[in-house]
Amino acid sequence: MMVPKLSPALISESTETLVSLHVPTCERVAAVLARHVIPIDQEDTKLPELSRTEIGNFYLFLVAICHQTSPKGLPPLAGKVNGRSLRGWDYLSARLEGDSATDHSLLAPKEWGHMTGERLACLFRDSEAGDRLTEPGARALLIRNLGEVMERNAWKAAEDIYEKSGHRIAQGSANLLELLSRFRAYDDPVCKKSYFFLGVMRNAGLWSYVDNENLGAPVDYHEVRGHLRIGTVTVHDAGLREKLFRGEPVNAEEDIAIRRAVLEAILLLSRLTGLKNPSQLHYLFWNVFRSCCTRESPHCFRCPSRCTLPERYVPLAIHEDGVRRCPFSSVCQSAGREPKLLEHVFKTDYY
Ligand code: SF4
Repeated sequence: MMVPKLSPALISESTETLVSLHVPTCERVAAVLARHVIPIDQEDTKLPELSRTEIGNFYLFLVAICHQTSPKGLPPLAGKVNGRSLRGWDYLSARLEGDSATDHSLLAPKEWGHMTGERLACLFRDSEAGDRLTEPGARALLIRNLGEVMERNAWKAAEDIYEKSGHRIAQGSANLLELLSRFRAYDDPVCKKSYFFLGVMRNAGLWSYVDNENLGAPVDYHEVRGHLRIGTVTVHDAGLREKLFRGEPVNAEEDIAIRRAVLEAILLLSRLTGLKNPSQLHYLFWNVFRSCCTRESPHCFRCPSRCTLPERYVPLAIHEDGVRRCPFSSVCQSAGREPKLLEHVFKTDYY
C-alpha cells in the first residue's frame, strides 16, 4: 500500500532517526479498526450553568493545568464530587464546574493574573483524599501566564482567539495553533494541550473548524505506551530502547521524537481507515490503552472482570472466539512477549 502523504501541523522530519512510523503494523491495525464502528468522540460534561463564552474560558483554564495527574510514586489525583468517585481529568472538570457555577470570576481572564498555588490547591482539595494536585505553584504560574497573555493581546475570552483565527486550526496565519502557542501552557512542539483543547471545544458542540483534518491527536503517556507495544512506531536508537525498558528518564529531544512518531501513527491510521478524524481515534486508543494495556497487567489474552474499558468500546474487545481481550491482540508485536516496553519517563507540564 502507498503511504499517504501526511499533512499534519508542525511535524518535522528531524527526529525520525530516533523513532519512526512502522507502516506495515499501522496497516494491520487499520484492518482491525475497519471491522468495527468507531465510537464518536464527545464530551459528557454539558456545563449547563455556564454561558458559551464562559465554557471556552473554562476549558482553556482546565486544559492548561491538566497534566501529570497520576504522578509516579504518588497517589493519583482523585476525590468525590456529588457522591461520585472521580479521577484525573474527570475530577478536575467536575470540581471546576462546581466552583465556577457559584463563583463566575474564576473564569474571568482578568482574575487569572492573580492566581496563586494556595488558591489552586484549595480549589481541588478533596475533603477525604486531601491535596492530590501536585505542584500547585507551578500550575498557578501557568494560569497567571494565561491571564497575562490574554491581557497583552486584548483577548477577553477564548472566543476572541477563535474569531481571530478565522476558525482555522493550522491553515494560514494566524491560526489557532499559532495563537495558542503564545501561552506558556500551550507552547508544546507536539501541541498536546492545544489539540486537546480544540478537540474538547469541538466535541462540546461549540466550535467547528474550516480545516478539521488538521485537528491532531493529543498524545499522552497511555497512548505512547500502547503504540510502542503494538509496534505502530519503532524505536531505532538502542540507547533510547534501553531507557524505555528500564524506565529511565529520556531527554527533551527523545520525548518529542516519541510523541511525534505516535502522533504521525494516529494521523496515518486516520487516513488508512478513512475516518479522517485523528481525534476520534485518539479517544479510542486512549480508552483501550488506559483500560486494557496497563503498565503491569495488560489484557492481551483476556480482560479481567474489573476491566474498566468504557461500554461503548467493549464491542471492539469481543473477538470471534467470544473472548473479551484487548482489541489489538491479533496484531500487537508485544502480545505474549516479555518484557514489554513502558512509556517514557520525562518531567514536563505538557502532558
Ligand atoms: S495486545 Fe497486550 S501489549 Fe498489545 S496493546 Fe493490547 S494489551 Fe497492550
